[in-house]
Amino acid sequence: MDLYDIAIIGGGPGGLFAAYYAGLRGMRVLILDSLPTLGGQLATLYPEKFIYDMPGFPKVLARDLAANMIEQAMQYEPTVRLEETVTGLCSDGEKVTLTTNKAVHHARVALITAGVGAFEPKTLDVPGVRELTGKGIEHYVNDKSVYDGKRVVVVGGGDSAIDWALNLAGNAAEVILVHRRDAFRAHEESVVACTRNPRITFKLFREVKEVHGVDRVEAVTLAHNRNLGEETIGCDAVLLFLGFSADLGPIKSWGLEISRNSVVVDEHMQTTIARVFAAGDVVWHEGKIKLIATGVGEAAIAVNFAKNTLDPKALVFPGHSSEINSPTRSVSVEI
Ligand code: FAD
Repeated sequence: MDLYDIAIIGGGPGGLFAAYYAGLRGMRVLILDSLPTLGGQLATLYPEKFIYDMPGFPKVLARDLAANMIEQAMQYEPTVRLEETVTGLCSDGEKVTLTTNKAVHHARVALITAGVGAFEPKTLDVPGVRELTGKGIEHYVNDKSVYDGKRVVVVGGGDSAIDWALNLAGNAAEVILVHRRDAFRAHEESVVACTRNPRITFKLFREVKEVHGVDRVEAVTLAHNRNLGEETIGCDAVLLFLGFSADLGPIKSWGLEISRNSVVVDEHMQTTIARVFAAGDVVWHEGKIKLIATGVGEAAIAVNFAKNTLDPKALVFPGHSSEINSPTRSVSVEI
């Protein structure tokens, strides 16, 4: 049985900072996340937005902050398992067993940094979408080169849709941006850049009515939502960037005390289950504020008390990082 010192459920800012601290404290770390990428809400919900309330950063793009937090977390080489949703958790008082959609993992302690729960991309309930998902209909882009020279329909009006329309315009022959309104919830400069890009065509006030194709996407029918008819356009891919829904779902069935849709913790970030800690957006305690700055502080508290749980001789206080050499390299961030 492969026994980790700490299994971290969720690779958002809380989980990433916890992974760094656990590495610093000599713990063997497993990070599990249901998404195909680390970074949590920063990477998934608002990568192109600036954050203004991180200590030391007058402003920083969420995407850049996530990248730096990932680099910091990876210094001690934790095991990272992506696209694994933790569905079950039980503690026998000595170790915690975690069941995911792919495997069973064991750790001496667990830390829940699951934010608002496992994210699922929102999809469309129209003919052809279920059948052609994975066959030209996608909710993520893993490899841009797949779209080289293709005609790509991007659906959505938020940061992800705008950002990917711009990004793919460098690869695709044509990007057709479909949105049901004429206003976008995206970084203004990026929207302007899209309007100026000759490879991007806008189809506004349109909604996808049907996606056509046999083994692959071949065309999409768009309906004008102001009763100006329909059109069917040939295309090779339909990318749906319609946001994400989050579900605390399975976490509620693990026997933890839950209050305000969150996991109740004490001042050590200990939950009501032995050897299970929690931090970040997922927790509730008196004085809880759901921010990155407070969540990463909770993660540091949780890991240091977890270390002391595993080894009562280990001090809770980790020492100052400024007095410890970095394991690989020091992280420098250009601002
Ligand atoms: P999350 O970032 O939510 O990460 C949790 C991770 O856990 C996710 O990756 C999820 O996939 C994973 N997960 C959940 N359940 C499971 C499971 N069962 N199995 C496996 N993985 C699971 N905060 C600020 O401080 N300043 C800001 O300016 C700011 N702006 C924001 C703007 C927007 C639009 C939004 C939506 C939020 C903003 N926030 C901001 C809030 C901030 O992003 C959150 O406080 C922060 O992301 C919480 O970090 P976390 O690690 O607790 O959770």
